[in-house]
Amino acid sequence: MNDKTIAVQYGYKKGEDGSMSVPIFQTTAYEFRDSEHAANLFELKEMGNIYTRLMNPTTDVFEKRVCALEQGIGAVATASGTAAIFYTFANVAESGDNILIAKQAYGGTLTLGAHTIKRFGIEARFFDVYNLDELESQIDSKTKVIFFETIPNPAIEVADIEAIVDIANKHNILLCVDNTVATPILCKPLSLGADLVVHSVSKYINGQGSAIGGVIVESKSAKAKITDNPRYKHFNEPDLSYHGLVYTTLDMPIFTLRARLALLRDFGGAPSPFNSWLNIQGMETLALRVEQHSKSALEIAKFLEEHPKVKSVNYPSLKSSKSFENAQKYLKDGKANGLFSFIVESKEAAQKVAENTKIFSLVVNIGDSKSIITHPASTTHQQLSKEELVSAGVDEGLIRLSVGLEDSEDLINDLKSALDLI
Ligand SMILES: *Cc1c(COP(=O)(O)O)cnc(C)c1O
Repeated sequence: MNDKTIAVQYGYKKGEDGSMSVPIFQTTAYEFRDSEHAANLFELKEMGNIYTRLMNPTTDVFEKRVCALEQGIGAVATASGTAAIFYTFANVAESGDNILIAKQAYGGTLTLGAHTIKRFGIEARFFDVYNLDELESQIDSKTKVIFFETIPNPAIEVADIEAIVDIANKHNILLCVDNTVATPILCKPLSLGADLVVHSVSKYINGQGSAIGGVIVESKSAKAKITDNPRYKHFNEPDLSYHGLVYTTLDMPIFTLRARLALLRDFGGAPSPFNSWLNIQGMETLALRVEQHSKSALEIAKFLEEHPKVKSVNYPSLKSSKSFENAQKYLKDGKANGLFSFIVESKEAAQKVAENTKIFSLVVNIGDSKSIITHPASTTHQQLSKEELVSAGVDEGLIRLSVGLEDSEDLINDLKSALDLI
């Protein structure tokens, strides 16, 4: 099946009622046939529904579709993208371990790494995706995962994905890619050799800014890397919290299985069935939207590149972008979706432009059908120090646009009027 068919049909078998739309199973729990059935489910002798914190039939369809689009073998949905990222780290690292995170990452991922998991005894080490010596030189026997974004925001750059895959494979370390901005329509990191993909579903997959959600998808390579690898002892030894289960002995996608059985069980960030349904609706039009977002964004980026008040425009589909070649290599047809940034002369000028657009809304979100303008230095990245801002690629005069589905001529005129004010 190709992407557009998967996104609309995959993973749902109509029941007797013939419902064309995936039903919303708005339930907390599920009846067991008898106590043996219950025991079998808990012992994983039989797969089935127990409790919505762990699984839900609506969420299951959502997981199957994202998994198929990403060409993975297993997926687990979470209440938010942030939960998916935290669970990815928590699934492999414990006190004394470290993880390697690209400096060009989402603000919340940077604070999670630099501050919050530090208090759990897990050290985040940061690397520049354009300086892979910085990545490799920080790897040691306690490194549990390497993490970067296909199109990080607001830096909007495309790393040399295969070079990072080679480093992860050389050291036998799991590689996780946050594919939120590229989406599986433009890039499939698992097929390029990554072991795990995470998404903030809240963005392009939902596509209408109507629900928060996250997902972790694993490739076949994850289990192969984990098995008999001293870095991942806890997958290879009996899990005392699950009556001595040894994950690597199971013929299943064990990374996402453990995220479900241990982390959703103990941290509890499960998605609501209704949000899974909204995300299923959104996914149906993902391929069409990505096509249109990419087309409009390129037109607007070209307009801004010519504008005298704009110092620079950063969009990987533009020839002037330092990521142009990587975008051509790793993104389908070199398309880069609706997100890009540009720089005006000062923080004040950037704030003025952001406050004076009428069609672009001043909002901290991306991937919505409604166009969005953001000034990262005073919002999403406001909690970062000056040095952290520089390493995350955030200039004080940087403006980020998430180009929506409105008419691109209207969007250009809106920006033109706001730029006239500075
Ligand atoms: C928004 C975002 C997140 C966080 O996801 P939430 O769903 O808001 O929790 C993580 N990574 C990227 C790239 C994002 O854009």
